[in-house]
Amino acid sequence: MIPFNIPPYTGREDAYVLEAIHSHKICGDGAFTKKCHEWLQARTGAARAFLTTSGTHALDMAALLCRLEPGDEVILPSFTFSSTANAFVLAGATPVFVDIRPDTMNIDEKRIEDAITDRTRVICVMHYAGVACEMDAIMDIARRHGLLVVEDAAQAVMSTYKGRPLGNVGDYGCYSFHETKNYSMGEGGAILLREDDPRAEIIREKGTNRARLLRGQVDKYTWEDLGSSYLPSELNAAYLYGQLEMAEEINAARLHSWQLYRQGLAPLHEAGAIDWQTIPDGCVHNGHMFYIKARNIAQRTALIAHLRANGVQAVFHYVPLHSATAGLRFGRFHGEDKYTTAESERLLRLPMYYGLADSDVERVVDLIAAFYREARR
Ligand SMILES: *Cc1c(COP(=O)(O)O)cnc(C)c1O
Repeated sequence: MIPFNIPPYTGREDAYVLEAIHSHKICGDGAFTKKCHEWLQARTGAARAFLTTSGTHALDMAALLCRLEPGDEVILPSFTFSSTANAFVLAGATPVFVDIRPDTMNIDEKRIEDAITDRTRVICVMHYAGVACEMDAIMDIARRHGLLVVEDAAQAVMSTYKGRPLGNVGDYGCYSFHETKNYSMGEGGAILLREDDPRAEIIREKGTNRARLLRGQVDKYTWEDLGSSYLPSELNAAYLYGQLEMAEEINAARLHSWQLYRQGLAPLHEAGAIDWQTIPDGCVHNGHMFYIKARNIAQRTALIAHLRANGVQAVFHYVPLHSATAGLRFGRFHGEDKYTTAESERLLRLPMYYGLADSDVERVVDLIAAFYREARR
């Protein structure tokens, strides 16, 4: 059996978690959390980085930092995870979905401007598969219309756009360290701030100025703003730090597997049997995902069954948010759904994880080739 995902594990986590236990400092913001913050800031150039309890909570924090009011609108793609939209709905805003580009499955930057109204406050992009959205065009639109930009960079740790680390291009960047992501702490995430905002640590600490108390800047702490409990335990931070220290190795291993799929499936791509993702100029990705596109949903369903029958777990991805129950209730789609639904129905993700064996990639490639040989007959 070749599973779709195995959570990353380097072997360093054990010692670090034990060290955290024996430090008798197991709540948040201890030594390992600090090391993770420093790593994230050094790696991305963000003014501030904070670990959070999930990628979802990083998005929730970003939405609170945007100071949204009821009736405000946020432009985002429909082909994304529920958390991207939920964060803004919880903050009182209305998600306005626009179409994606078929080549990257990212928000189509050319569809954004037409969706802007006098209630629009935020553009929220999501870098699918760790491949960057067209950030120059998007930041330009945001600047001209006075909008904030939130990056859902849950899949994009270690990816860059024209040399700039994703997560630190927009105003706020959100990472996920869920076990399905490139680096993991079980459940966890981080928010990056391109410019420092003292509200961030208050929102993260239940709306209090506790962080200032811990630094000795005040002698008691009080309720100052909206907030919740967004800081993870030291045990989780210690686990993550073991992986961040090995980020280059993990990234290189994933890219190696990605290239192997690419080479193996190139004949099928050249023959027009499958489509795959485009990596635009200026985008350096992180091997988060390898996907192909079948001709249609029926062919994809048959291919999933063929792979499963041969011990390979391949999975499809998002049901577009605008067509889901909550999407219909809370948001609206602006413009034509030319690609979101049609392309999402063709997309199939292949096994991809740190430690995936070359021989397993080759086996998956061979099974897909056999499927299409059979389909041609
Ligand atoms: C994984 C993911 C999230 C949520 O992250 P969690 O850490 O699971 O809360 C949000 N958005 C996208 C695009 C994701 O892939």
